[in-house]
Amino acid sequence: MAVHDFKSQRLFVEFALGQDKSFEASREQANYLLNVLRMQDGDKILVFNGVDGEWLAEIEAKGRKKCAIFCISQTREQPKPLPLIYCFAPLKQGRLDYMVQKAVEMGAGVLQPVITQYTQARQIKHNKLYANMIEAVEQCGILTLPEIREPVDLHELPKALGEDAHLIFCDEEANQKSATESFKSVAPLKPALLIGPEGGFSDDERSFLYTQENITALGLGPRILRADTAAVAALAIIQANIGDWYQD
Ligand code: SAH
Repeated sequence: MAVHDFKSQRLFVEFALGQDKSFEASREQANYLLNVLRMQDGDKILVFNGVDGEWLAEIEAKGRKKCAIFCISQTREQPKPLPLIYCFAPLKQGRLDYMVQKAVEMGAGVLQPVITQYTQARQIKHNKLYANMIEAVEQCGILTLPEIREPVDLHELPKALGEDAHLIFCDEEANQKSATESFKSVAPLKPALLIGPEGGFSDDERSFLYTQENITALGLGPRILRADTAAVAALAIIQANIGDWYQD
């Protein structure tokens, strides 16, 4: 596994990156680099834009409010998008922020909000989801930007996922014995994980889900976990068993 440079500051930018390319940092980013991080003229950072891989770049400070950024050399190539689709019933903002950041850190390639019967937070602020996603990719050395999809109703989810996805449904009432048993039928489809809201899934929703093709229930042990805890637990099991933690 490539060992990433976790010491250098990483910055997501919306400019083309390449040999000898340079650009003016936005006002906010210039302020962050020069006044928050107190970086100096000539300091180096890592920049990425989700398309051109990761580049070592040099800062040219112009006073305390402006700076230009010059690409020096590519440090990592742009990887393929991550296949894991993370389907979640939105939670109240604070816990939603946490849950989205953890899903991105754990390797979700798609964030798919799902509105269920007991979903409490039905208004989802896309810009908050996006800001949490950017914070997670900057902090965790992730170069692919997870896609953020529009919310769908639970009953529309199987169609929205398409036939090449296999839905792994975290059912707090599942009593299957082992996680690995659940995963035998997933490959080679794309794994899509579904976590319910604070109030869990209704019986109607559970019955609907169990009638779907390409669906597997995943139990997460004998205790009821909070949705954000369940998300991290399920993502760990999936990445360890059929994801990219232990496979090249
Ligand atoms: N009705 C409970 C369940 C909510 S937990 C409550 O009101 O607290 C929220 C979601 O986390 C569930 O819908 C499920 O997707 C997941 N989850 C929590 N504990 C789980 C477990 N032991 N097994 C599988 N999924 C679980």
